[in-house]
Amino acid sequence: MTKGSKDEELTCSFCLSSSSGEMVQGGGGTICSRCTQDSLKLLRSYDKGVDRALPDIPKPSEIKARLDEHVIGQDQAKRALAVAVYNHYKRIESNLEDPELSLKKSNVLLIGPSGSGKTLLAQTLAEMLNVPFAIADATNITEAGYVGDDVENILINLYLSAEGDVAAAEYGIVYIDEIDKICKKGENMSITRDVSGEGVQQSLLKIMEGTTANVPPSGGRKHPYQDFISIDTKNILFICGGAFTDLHQIIEKRVVRTGIGFGSTTRGPKSNDHDELLQQVEPEDIIRYGLIPEFIGRIPVISTLETPTEDTLVKILTYPKNSLTRQYQRLFDLDGVSLSFDEDALVAVAKAALAQGSGARGLRSVLERVMLEFMYDTPGSDREQLVIQLSHIIEHFPEVESNSPNHDDVA
Ligand code: ADP
Repeated sequence: MTKGSKDEELTCSFCLSSSSGEMVQGGGGTICSRCTQDSLKLLRSYDKGVDRALPDIPKPSEIKARLDEHVIGQDQAKRALAVAVYNHYKRIESNLEDPELSLKKSNVLLIGPSGSGKTLLAQTLAEMLNVPFAIADATNITEAGYVGDDVENILINLYLSAEGDVAAAEYGIVYIDEIDKICKKGENMSITRDVSGEGVQQSLLKIMEGTTANVPPSGGRKHPYQDFISIDTKNILFICGGAFTDLHQIIEKRVVRTGIGFGSTTRGPKSNDHDELLQQVEPEDIIRYGLIPEFIGRIPVISTLETPTEDTLVKILTYPKNSLTRQYQRLFDLDGVSLSFDEDALVAVAKAALAQGSGARGLRSVLERVMLEFMYDTPGSDREQLVIQLSHIIEHFPEVESNSPNHDDVA
């Protein structure tokens, strides 16, 4: 860069104004002092945009402590997520400071049964970091060109969650549920839908590894005359979740095989217990299950969640700040009624939910059924106190009676 000569008439390459002096020349162009000031302003506003959108990053132990307030148990998954999220945003900071040393993104895979808290973990993380969050269901996604939701629709939801702030959306978190349902199968092929899953995996792969996707702001399918918004996905954290039913069998086979056959990295099966086997999952097991290697290559952090036990379910009912029992207590409080739950009633609710086989997800429907008549009767009554007892649960779920030692008489 050189100062323009005072005697020479120069033309600014940006605003095309001509004058002699006060211009900078270089690299085949010339810029006047006003355009220099304006471009500086623009660059500063860009920097501010980046800083504003990038969340403050708590330490992994702080992230875990915050997750503990909302999610019961699942310690291993919380630790893995805390580290992954911390590294994710550190990586972005580092790449902004030193683009040459480009650190690779670590998306996350959570493996655990339905209702074990996968979505809750992802959602709590996003809330804690105050970044935009979107949930997508992998079974609704199709390859572009097939009937169904395009992969880009996920980004539209993120953009909407960011209230139209593209810079914020680009630092958001996307949770993709039921990722195990897009595994390769080879059966049930249909003309309109790529049920084999590989095409969907390829489409998802693109946005997960980082691409600039053009999405129609209003959502829906692309239209040739529509304005598009460009969203760069390279800094979006993707958390995928799935139950991966029967994955433990694949793991067991591998562990047994490597244990007795080839003697390489032997970690014999700890037990036949489903959760313990899952904890030994390796990327090759998931590839065998049907995720393509390129896809699993984009999700280097894999963590497993435990199946909630009766004990865990009782804690889920009472412990989190917005637990179900607290929510009902608040509702009744608004009607001037003090609501409490007997311990054995809570255990019975947990048993009834377990019987439904949908983890903690069942708790709400069980309680809703039990509470319905009270929610109907209470407003306008002179009731000041309500204690939910075991008998109230048994009334609706008689099957829990047989394994409840402290059964009260039905009132
Ligand atoms: P998943 O995504 O694993 O199917 P979710 O995260 O959607 O399960 O959980 C369903 C509901 O159950 C959540 O709304 C949450 O209230 C509750 N829940 C599940 N697991 C936990 C947990 N470990 N701690 C607290 N609540 C939980």
